[in-house]
Amino acid sequence: MEDCIFCKIIHQEIPSETIYEDEQVKVFLDIHPSTNGDALLIPKKHIVTIDEVEEELMLHMLKVIKEMKKRMEEQLDIKGLTIIQNNGCGQEVKHFHIHLTPRYPDDGMDHVYNKENLILIQEIKEKLTSKK
Ligand code: 5GP
Ligand code: ZN
Repeated sequence: MEDCIFCKIIHQEIPSETIYEDEQVKVFLDIHPSTNGDALLIPKKHIVTIDEVEEELMLHMLKVIKEMKKRMEEQLDIKGLTIIQNNGCGQEVKHFHIHLTPRYPDDGMDHVYNKENLILIQEIKEKLTSKK
C-alpha cells in the first residue's frame, strides 16, 4: 500500500533494523523501544487488523514469535516477553503488527488504564456471553 510506512519498510524504501525475514513476514526493531530488543512482527501482505489475518499466517507468526523469544533469551537474557497487538483504537500504524516486548526485572513497563471509566465486570460478562 502506497502510503503505508510498514509497506515501505518491507520494500526497503525506508530503512529498518531487521532481525528476521522470510517470504511471509518480517521482524524489525521498534524505532521507539519500550525495552531493549523491542521488536515488531509484520506480515508482508498489507492488512490492517486481526480480522484480516488468515489462520495459516497466524500459525506461522506464532512459530516466528517462539523463535524470536528463544533468540532473545539466549542473546539478550530476557526474563519474559510481553506480546501486544493493537486494532483500531490504540493502533498508530494501520498495517497489522505484533509488538514483541522483552521484559527484564524492574524494567518499568506498566499497564495504563483509566479506572474511572470501568463498569462492573458482571455487566461485561453478561454482554459478552449473551447470544444475538
Ligand atoms: P501501534 O501504536 O500502531 O501499535 O505501534 C506502532 C509502533 O510502530 C510504535 O511502537 C512505533 O514506535 C513504531 N514505528 C512507527 N514508525 C516506525 C518506523 O518508521 N520504524 C520503526 N522501526 N518503527 C516504527
Ligand atoms: Zn502496509
